[in-house]
Amino acid sequence: MKRRQFVGSLAAAAGLAACSKQQNGGEVQAARAGESFEWSIATSWPPKYPGLGIAVNNLADRMEATSGGRLKLRVYAAGELVPAFEAFDAASRGIVEMGHDAAYYHKGKVPAAQFMTAIPFGMTFMETNAWLYYGGGLELWRELYEPLNLVPFPCGNTGVQMGGWFNKEINSIEDLKGLKMRIPGLGGEVFRRAGGTPVTLPVSEIFTSLQTGAIDATEWVGPYNDITNGFHTVARYYYYPGWQEPAPALQAYVNRQAWDSLPPDLQSVIEISCQAITTDMQAEYTHGNAVALQQLMQDPDVELRKFPDDVLQYLKAIAKEIVEEMVAGDPMAAKIHESWSSFLELSIQNSRITEHAFLETRR
Ligand code: CA
Repeated sequence: MKRRQFVGSLAAAAGLAACSKQQNGGEVQAARAGESFEWSIATSWPPKYPGLGIAVNNLADRMEATSGGRLKLRVYAAGELVPAFEAFDAASRGIVEMGHDAAYYHKGKVPAAQFMTAIPFGMTFMETNAWLYYGGGLELWRELYEPLNLVPFPCGNTGVQMGGWFNKEINSIEDLKGLKMRIPGLGGEVFRRAGGTPVTLPVSEIFTSLQTGAIDATEWVGPYNDITNGFHTVARYYYYPGWQEPAPALQAYVNRQAWDSLPPDLQSVIEISCQAITTDMQAEYTHGNAVALQQLMQDPDVELRKFPDDVLQYLKAIAKEIVEEMVAGDPMAAKIHESWSSFLELSIQNSRITEHAFLETRR
């Protein structure tokens, strides 16, 4: 019943957009100025999940407040309207107007989307935003999603993640062999080539899988989220750094017809609200991780470990190979890779003498 109502509202909006093209532009703006929209957004996150999920509720609040109540979002957590990984398809088909998740969950459909979340050993939070907003990344993202009938927006970023929870020590490359780990995206492919078995699971299934031994290890996000999920109660070793996801960006996307039905000021509301969520989420994670890490370090059953350097260098070499293979034979991926890697190369020189040098000095 509810779903029909949403499709109905979207169809009506699409119809309005179609009609408007035949009218005088000025009249259309005047006619739309007072119009209100009630949209649905489907997500991959559990209800009000710290960071990732709350961000979508914050997005809805900001959009409603900054639009003076003209653009309302009804938030559907994973499974409430569609399963965790199907928000993308639902928005593409117009079952919902918007969705929120991570682009790399859809690598099966759009391999190049992985550049929009995170590439192993790739960009930091600041570099990701620099590339997206000033380096042409966002334009490429829009072009990539054009055939999917979606308009994408960066909407959140967790910052550098942790390497993950392991029930076994990782002292050498050999120790990765035969491990079954929840690790999605390109990081998962790197792990596979290193001899492990990667699996992709929604967060709701990770704890039980780790507890029952169905998986030996998991990466998720970092201390702030991981402690909420209780991974430290079912795995002993907490490894860093999160080579697989240095600063994954989350995405919001809008069904193309729904987007076209909005007047420009409400389109700006979406754009600016998503940008605000990116800043807000990073602040929430930076604060939450610092607090949660302290708690985890006081737990006698948790051992914090850094991956050995040779393991990291080995994974980095594999990551480079995998990215090059992914873009070969995919012209759009190659175009994105060219833009992404050119900026990363430039930025590494700068980051080395700024952020990196400063953090080394400050300790
Ligand atoms: Ca992760």
